[in-house]
Amino acid sequence: MPHSLFISDLHLSAAHPRSAEMFLDFASKLAPQAEALYILGDLFEYWAGDDDLTDPFHQTICATLHALDVRNTAIIIMHGNRDFLMDEQLAAACHATLLPDPTLLDLYGTPTLLTHGDALCTDDAAYQQFRNTVRSADWREQFLAQPLAQRKAQIEQLRAQSEAQKRSKQMSLMDVNVDAVNDLLRQHRYPRLIHGHTHRPATHLHHVDGRTCKRFVLGDWDEGKASILRCDAQGCAVLNFK
Ligand code: MN
Repeated sequence: MPHSLFISDLHLSAAHPRSAEMFLDFASKLAPQAEALYILGDLFEYWAGDDDLTDPFHQTICATLHALDVRNTAIIIMHGNRDFLMDEQLAAACHATLLPDPTLLDLYGTPTLLTHGDALCTDDAAYQQFRNTVRSADWREQFLAQPLAQRKAQIEQLRAQSEAQKRSKQMSLMDVNVDAVNDLLRQHRYPRLIHGHTHRPATHLHHVDGRTCKRFVLGDWDEGKASILRCDAQGCAVLNFK
């Protein structure tokens, strides 16, 4: 049956070969049967700019996506909070289409809203402020004007800081805010919602204005587990893959 697959938060990096191996396995076994593969953010551990495409690890991942597209699985990529600097050069190299966050689409007859999920974590005010800063055109231009090695060093430093902060932040801060979810569902006329980011894979029901919306949360790919959602005309279901 025609179907699409949804994944997010793979956090691929040369430093964690296990996730990359799983991804390559997934790309050779499951993904070719899908007519589309949606990567809803954080494919990479981080993305310092499209000039990092020369990195051999990045080339392997892009060549894999490119090969899937050639075999008729459309590759659709949305930015995550780690890899929001992915741009047209990367899209061209991977034969992928970059999708704005959020995007509403008709998925086999069901209106479906796709988002990475970080914009919904509105309880974490410090993070939302950081997000606004780094997503501005000025910040982007200044950051990308620096040499690649310097950008990578800066990101490593930011990542270390955010890891340290995460340990002291309340768990609830790092989940989506239910009002933010309901507002988004209302804005888009009560679609089905698919997102990642929180690393809390689950299916939720939201009751908004007398309507019921399903929210599918994708999990991350850390520690040897893959989180995959398969959607067709009959609905969406989590796929087991090891
Ligand atoms: Mn994320």
